[in-house]
Amino acid sequence: MAFLKTVGLRSIVLYILLAVFLGGVGYLVVNLFLNGRTWAMQPYNGHLGSQMGDILDCDGAVLATSKEGERQYSEDATVRRALLHTIGDTAGYIGTGVQSTMGGKLTGYNFITGLNQTPFSQLGSTVTLTVDQDVCAAAYTAMDGHNGAAILYNYENGDILCKVSAPSFDPSDVPEDLETNDAYKGAYLDNTLSSSFTPGSIFKLVTVAAAMEKWPEDWSSRTYDCWGAQDVGGSDITCLHGESHGTQDAFSAMGNSCNIYFAQLANDVGRDSLQKKAEDMGFNQEFTFDGVAVAKSTIDLSSANANQLGWAGVGQYTVLANPYHMMVLAGAIANGGAYTQPRLADNPNLLSGLVQPGDRKLVTAVEASQLKSLMRSDVENYYGDWLFPEGMAVCAKTGTGEVGEGKGPNCWMMGFCDSSQYPYAFAVVVEEGTGGIETAGAVVSAMLQALV
Ligand SMILES: [Zn+2]
Repeated sequence: MAFLKTVGLRSIVLYILLAVFLGGVGYLVVNLFLNGRTWAMQPYNGHLGSQMGDILDCDGAVLATSKEGERQYSEDATVRRALLHTIGDTAGYIGTGVQSTMGGKLTGYNFITGLNQTPFSQLGSTVTLTVDQDVCAAAYTAMDGHNGAAILYNYENGDILCKVSAPSFDPSDVPEDLETNDAYKGAYLDNTLSSSFTPGSIFKLVTVAAAMEKWPEDWSSRTYDCWGAQDVGGSDITCLHGESHGTQDAFSAMGNSCNIYFAQLANDVGRDSLQKKAEDMGFNQEFTFDGVAVAKSTIDLSSANANQLGWAGVGQYTVLANPYHMMVLAGAIANGGAYTQPRLADNPNLLSGLVQPGDRKLVTAVEASQLKSLMRSDVENYYGDWLFPEGMAVCAKTGTGEVGEGKGPNCWMMGFCDSSQYPYAFAVVVEEGTGGIETAGAVVSAMLQALV
């Protein structure tokens, strides 16, 4: 009996050991599968620095390369800062950069072979991006030390030519006070993708689109009078600098950016119709870009009173807009209502955007054409075509989103060129600027000049 008992006990111990061993192997395999890519690309993995492939711009300029086991970036300091968020930093804190999102291709990491070269896997592939380093540097320089975002793409083929976020820093010479100096607060965040800002008057495009849907026949002939200030729901809505615009229709109100017109229009359209139209145009909706979930533009009018609805109609109240979304919306207006999915590289395997070209309409074709004529009139009759290179037929809307707290406004410009030679759509936001045209218009102008 005693003998049998011992054997039984030994078997149990063996079975337990076997179970622990198999469990451990299983755990490793699952973890390798889930985290292998991340492990392989950890910056302290010396293997990687020497093997990560080059990143080139659309003209073949080297934006990042590996030399003597170290990651090196463009030789031009402005280009390094302008493209920091698009490329990513060496330490890997900027998770939305190409060195993270396309890391698998750059390192040649493969689940089966890891980072080991085999006849079936190639290490350190080169990635050619759609961005143009000169356009990015021009936008960064024109932002003149202010925080914000500038993004521009070809609305026909989806190529992103410019994607710049500030605050930025030099990835080749990372500042020692990066974590402690307030000037670098939010420097790991790509504002084009991961932030939303008070839109101010660019939101008037949404308010007028809601009017187009409600009154398709006579939205443009509705008029409201502006005397600089107007009681809406018990308190005043005011126009910028207390300016009186007189009797306004949709075209003059858009050109003058008359708050009193759009505050009353928002109330006549109604809370639910404005909320629904904003959502149809992409507010409260998730957009993805190369596998990155873009920060939503948001609107919630559910508890807005008449005065708050008026302020929401001019892009204040609690409305927020994301620059990537505003660019896509401008692209949709340019494209007859549906937008082309933006991309940073030519390789279709690298694209994980859920929406394919032409799939998703943000406005109807009729609304797109009407919004286009309003935005073209803004530039032709109010901002001035002289701001932009000749022949680009820029269609745009500016905005100054008031953020309070003694801070200067968010200065916006979104729009596109109505031109088959220059099929570009853009959105620019500059924090603490002086005005939409002066501050954001200067950035748009610099990007378009660099594209000629
Ligand atoms: Zn006015």
